[in-house]
Amino acid sequence: MMNAIQLQAPEQFRMISIDEPGPVAAGEALVQVHRVGICGTDISGYLGKMPFFAYPVIPGHELGVEVLEVGAEVSEVEVGDACSVEPYLNDPNSFSSRRGRTNCCETLEVLGVHTDGGLRPRMVVPARKLHPSKEMSYDQLALVETLAIGCHAIGRGRAVEGEHVLVIGAGPIGLSVIEFAKIAKARITVLDLNETRLQFCREVMGVDHVVSAGEEDLVLGQLEAITDGNLFTLVLDATGSNQSMSKGVEYVGHTGRFVFVGISTQPLTYYHPLLHRREMTLLTSRNALPEEFGKIIQWIESGVIDTRPWMTHRSPFEQLIEDFPAYTRPETGVIKAIVDVSR
Ligand SMILES: [Zn+2]
Repeated sequence: MMNAIQLQAPEQFRMISIDEPGPVAAGEALVQVHRVGICGTDISGYLGKMPFFAYPVIPGHELGVEVLEVGAEVSEVEVGDACSVEPYLNDPNSFSSRRGRTNCCETLEVLGVHTDGGLRPRMVVPARKLHPSKEMSYDQLALVETLAIGCHAIGRGRAVEGEHVLVIGAGPIGLSVIEFAKIAKARITVLDLNETRLQFCREVMGVDHVVSAGEEDLVLGQLEAITDGNLFTLVLDATGSNQSMSKGVEYVGHTGRFVFVGISTQPLTYYHPLLHRREMTLLTSRNALPEEFGKIIQWIESGVIDTRPWMTHRSPFEQLIEDFPAYTRPETGVIKAIVDVSR
């Protein structure tokens, strides 16, 4: 038997005792979970604001793991490999998977959201979902999934060098979007309510402009000034707030694209002629693709992405239930909390 942390209902974590996983079937791998990153999805699940959470569930989808055992027909990894896990369990024969869009498979199950995730010492996962690295730490491997969300969103928006990109919301997902807008060499402006987060974007992330979300006319004026009156050819919303997602279209310039990265369960409202006159493109971005995990691992290994600013808080596994409520409060300065499942 081993201990696992289960979210039984909103705001109700419990340490439970579960069977050791196994046996390992063909195509699968048994892994030791070393690190789990806590993300906005986990926080929303804890607060009861995440529509997809299947309570009771063992959370944990940002994973740094070690391969302990492989089943038959596994060629992707070997025993001892350190890996990041792509937690999106898709049906390879589904309509979207066959179109190469494994990230939004019709029957997609995300580890730690729809099905049990990594807040347990050992688990079995499909070997094709493991992305190994010979150089990265388990902390860094646990960060790859968060980064993949931003990488996919920037890919959806097709950011190009030199264009004006606006990122709305500077929480972890917004920061992850910024990381890839930087790699695309876009000119980046960040809009957020929280001054501490804006300061972080300016001083640590090195973005070009930050704008404090406040009085509406003032915000629009500042955004126009930054872009010579043209507004932004690419805007990405990482707030998940229906108000922000509705308002955001006003910051998209003629011919521009708007990408929804965050999810709202509320309806969005637009004045359609505004979108139409500008011939705006609206896009959504869900999860990420396997090749994006591979690219991020290369970028971290080669130093293009610096993971150090990301890791702000840590909890030992035994301490997480007590520490978790603090991670739901942005004023604690948490960007990424990492759980040491086995040290
Ligand atoms: Zn995540």
